[in-house]
Amino acid sequence: MISRRQFLMSAAAASAALFPAPAFAQGVAPRVVVVGGGFAGASCARALRHIDPRIAVTLVEASATFTACPFSNAVIGGLRELPAQQFTYDRVAADGIVVVRTSATAVDASARSVTLADGTRVPYDRLVLAPGIDIRWGALPGYDEPASAHMPHAWKAGEQTLLLRRQLEAMPDGGLVVIAAPANPFRCPPGPYERASLIAHYLKTKKPKSKLIVLDAKDTFSKQRLFQNAWAELYPGLLEWVPLSKGGNVTSVDPATRTLVTDFGRHTAAVANVIPPQKAGGIAESAGVADRSGWCPIDPVTFESRLQAGIHVIGDAAIAGAMPKSAFAANAQAKTCAAAVVRLVTGGVPPVPKLINTCYSLVAPDYGISVAGVYAPSNGQLADVPGGGGVSPAEAPRTTRALEATLAEAWFRTITAEVFG
Ligand SMILES: Cc1cc2nc3c(=O)[nH]c(=O)nc-3n(C[C@H](O)[C@H](O)[C@H](O)COP(=O)(O)OP(=O)(O)OC[C@H]3O[C@@H](n4cnc5c(N)ncnc54)[C@H](O)[C@@H]3O)c2cc1C
Repeated sequence: MISRRQFLMSAAAASAALFPAPAFAQGVAPRVVVVGGGFAGASCARALRHIDPRIAVTLVEASATFTACPFSNAVIGGLRELPAQQFTYDRVAADGIVVVRTSATAVDASARSVTLADGTRVPYDRLVLAPGIDIRWGALPGYDEPASAHMPHAWKAGEQTLLLRRQLEAMPDGGLVVIAAPANPFRCPPGPYERASLIAHYLKTKKPKSKLIVLDAKDTFSKQRLFQNAWAELYPGLLEWVPLSKGGNVTSVDPATRTLVTDFGRHTAAVANVIPPQKAGGIAESAGVADRSGWCPIDPVTFESRLQAGIHVIGDAAIAGAMPKSAFAANAQAKTCAAAVVRLVTGGVPPVPKLINTCYSLVAPDYGISVAGVYAPSNGQLADVPGGGGVSPAEAPRTTRALEATLAEAWFRTITAEVFG
């Protein structure tokens, strides 16, 4: 029987044998390439430089401006403008990171190089993939890419966020809004319910004769009791949640008529927000790090792919056990992965991590709720540390909810300042 430490040392030794630590003594800086400059990738690139400024870090990011999803539901609900969600890479570059504004199109794991859209190959000693999610077009019959122009998903922030908002603004009072929520796993487990809440708030204040139905492919969801108590208090008669067992699973859509079909009936909406099935961002599949689920299995200590040595996967794209797909989790995984990568490229042993996640949701502008968790490697997965987390109290005065709404904003300012500021 080998001990955990022996196992880690032998795993690190095996990885190091495939990917020998570059010799600083010979003046060769280890090269780490990070693909994707979101909450995971930008955090990781910066953490790598902060831990060891000798490491040459290249960040490949397709967009000049990052548009954050957290708080994008407030944009849809008319409580916030999109520019408040947008960040540049100027400060990331100022850390000495080479920011390459293009898409990575392929990875050659044996040659250890990333191919960019113009055909350039960028060599690496270690690669970190942080591409977030892609939509599984067609997995929900009728929901292909053109359909999202009629029934926006708004699950990647930007134009889709604005489209959904404009559709709500254009809808006459008395219209039916339908949200289709997917089965697990997907980006941001509480996100559909925060969105339902803030759309309900918009309707209550601007179009009170309207109705909102959430068709859900699940029977349970994150912070469910807190959301449902708040809905009963704030949006009675306006917001209806239909779980899987009551016919909530959407089996197909018709974008031309904005119709959502379930096993139990059809709903023709004035505004339809379809949150479809998802998978790891496309580069994960071409790099050979995604499994048949579409997501990427990883080692919970180093975030190194279980399918390709020398490639690490962090953020929404990774299968991170009990950790939800959140910006907070992506940032925590990024720092853990950076610490591991620095050890691996310098011939050390990665430390065993403990990671934290906290997710705030707004049910109304002055009504916030939260969930928190602590995670550690156990049996090859990231597992909940018992007693390490919890949710907001079920019974609490409105002053507590208002305070949590303030904390939610403070969290967003803090994390975006850390990642992009
Ligand atoms: C409506 C909504 C609300 C949310 N609210 C919260 C919240 O309150 N709190 C919270 O913690 N989380 C929240 N989330 C979840 C959070 O947005 C994600 O978990 C987080 O963005 C994941 O970070 P990531 O770095 O993995 O992916 P992303 O942030 O999506 O970043 C991926 C980046 O990779 C780039 N990229 C992809 N492929 C390539 C390629 N081939 N080449 C170059 N670049 C590439 C993309 O352009 C993108 O910039 C919310 C999500 C949604 C949809």
